[in-house]
This record gives sequence, structure tokens and C-alpha cells, in this order.
Amino acid sequence: MAIQDNLDFFYQKIKNTTTKLLAVSKTHSPELILEAYQTGCKVFAENRVQELVQKYETLPKDIEWHLIGTLQSNKVKYIAEFVHLIHSIDKFSLLEEVNKQAKKCNRVIDCLLQIHIAEEETKFGFDFEEAYQLLQDSKFEALENICIKGVMGMATFTDNTTQIRNEFRSLKDFFEKIKNQIDKKNVVMKEISMGMSSDYEIAIEEGSTYIRVGSAIFGKR
Ligand SMILES: *Cc1c(COP(=O)(O)O)cnc(C)c1O
Repeated sequence: MAIQDNLDFFYQKIKNTTTKLLAVSKTHSPELILEAYQTGCKVFAENRVQELVQKYETLPKDIEWHLIGTLQSNKVKYIAEFVHLIHSIDKFSLLEEVNKQAKKCNRVIDCLLQIHIAEEETKFGFDFEEAYQLLQDSKFEALENICIKGVMGMATFTDNTTQIRNEFRSLKDFFEKIKNQIDKKNVVMKEISMGMSSDYEIAIEEGSTYIRVGSAIFGKR
């Protein structure tokens, strides 16, 4: 079926790059995910906690699950045991809750800071300055059960590829700045999560380490 062809297309695209493919399976059935899994794809992302938990419970346990959607603090406890990477940290209080729940599970949860790089008002995330301040905060340093592994961003939804490229580039520059300037035990800058079905090509060129691709793999939602 088409899923395998679509996955192969993306594996070809990221060959010889630093980019990894994250298959965004939100709204799609466990059967469809299993079909992708059986072709060798083991890394999936969901944007809602309840859906993520249900799929985690029914699907093979060697799947690496990522959370890419807005996360409410009161729901962290449901995913703390198994989530591989949370891409959508947008508040310090959320990070504190992730730390608390991770501690209960006796693990360290890897997180990305979601940065607001788009023009639209509606997108979630920190400004560059806010994110930088957070990492400097002494309260942040005390969080031993989280590790900031990088940044995530969504470009403006537009046909203007120059604008998209500039937004991705600003995220990459910010990533480099943190990597060079912040020396903390719980900050290990490795990942830049940027690029979706409509703009993954530019994201790969601009140094994305995770493209988050949904509809171009699974079809329309
Ligand atoms: C849904 C979603 C994606 C994937 O979007 P597509 O356009 O279907 O590739 C990527 N990132 C986030 C945060 C999403 O919510």
C-alpha cells in the first residue's frame, strides 16, 4: 500500500543528512500505524495525551513515542513512564511538572523547548528571550529529572518559502547559541525539531534533526 512508498520516499530524502523522520500518526487508527510499523518504522508522534496513551497500550512496546502537541500539566502523569521525547514544552511550570512525574518513575524525560518562530499569533511557544532566560534560571538547574535536548518550532503557514526558511534559520541560530553559551547538566543540545508535510524540504536544508510528517505519510486527516 501507499504508506510503505511514502515512508521510502522520506527515507530517501533524509539519506545522508542529519535528519530523522518522525511519523505523525495523530487521528489515524492503530491498524494504520501497525502497517507502517511492519515496514520498519518505529518512531511515531501524537499530539493528544489520551490518544497517545491508548495507542501506546495497544501497539508494540518497541515503538518510540513522541509528544508534539500542547501538553497540560495535569496530564503529564499519564505519559511520564513511557514517552521518549516531549517536543512541546511551552511553560516553566510544565517543565516542573514533567520533572516531578519523571522523578516518580525514576527516570529522566527528554524535552524540547517549543519556540514561537511563526508570524501567526496563535502558535504556542516561548520567545527566544524567554527560553534563554528560563535556561539561566537557578530554579531550572535544580530539575534533575528532565533534560533539555533541543528546540522545536513551527514555521508560518505560507507559500513564501523565503519567510519559512528565515524562520527555520532563526531557530537553528538559537539552537547554536544555547549550545555554545549554556553549560548546564540538564541541557544537552542535540535536536532541532522543525519541518512538516508542507515545509520539510526547507527544514532538512536548514539543519532539522526531526521532521514531523503526518499527512504526507498517512494521507489526509
Ligand atoms: C499534526 C502536526 C504535524 C504534522 O503535520 P502534517 O502537515 O500532517 O505533516 C507536525 N507537527 C505538529 C506539532 C503537529 O501537530
